Amino acid sequence: MRILIISDIHANLAAFEAVLKASQGEWEQMWFLGDLLGYGPDPNTCGELLRAHNPVSLTGNHDWAVLGKLSLNSFNFQARQVIEWTQDTLDEATRAYLEAQEPKRTQPPFLLAHASPRQPIWEYVLDNGTAAANLQQLTAETPICLVGHTHVPILFTELDAGEMMASRPVYGEPVTLEGSRYIANPGSVGQPRDGDPRAAYALLDTEPMTWEHHRVAYPISQTQQRMRRQGFPERLIARLEYGW
Ligand code: ZN
Repeated sequence: MRILIISDIHANLAAFEAVLKASQGEWEQMWFLGDLLGYGPDPNTCGELLRAHNPVSLTGNHDWAVLGKLSLNSFNFQARQVIEWTQDTLDEATRAYLEAQEPKRTQPPFLLAHASPRQPIWEYVLDNGTAAANLQQLTAETPICLVGHTHVPILFTELDAGEMMASRPVYGEPVTLEGSRYIANPGSVGQPRDGDPRAAYALLDTEPMTWEHHRVAYPISQTQQRMRRQGFPERLIARLEYGW
């Protein structure tokens, strides 16, 4: 089966639509690794579009904050402003949908976690050491872990027992996931942070088992205009075009 893997949409409809258009016909199922909400101006339309594809979904830390499951004190001032706006704006269908999701679930042979397997809401898996510290959670039943949260596309592969090695994405090139343990991150749809402002996603094929990173440009100014109209912090508006 071919699966579209996406994460961290962050209410950016233009980016989400661009990913769907670019990957059209390439997948049969959608898996979403959490953080539908926060930062962006389109929480309800993004929620509707997500639900329309009947995906396997997780919730993320921003989703939890909007739902009142996490203290707003753990967010910086600008992120908090948009979380509060989203709390006032969110429709009932999107709220109920997110309420029904967890930040971690298994889909053997995959383990899905928003942030990390051991701390599904908070931990940033950005380096080999943190990736290795999470290996304990990858069992024989679920040797491949998919995460989001960092907004940085990356693939960690276990070398010798207990050691992880990060590979930067080579776009459009399938990597075979076999005979080892892996932690893979598709990057962020709605707020990339790796210096590349294009929306990020991945395609996973289970037969044979391959993982492929992708990027697609989207009309950033469209999202920025909608953010400005809602009075969002200028720093959040500006960062989209730099990809940080
Ligand atoms: Zn996020």
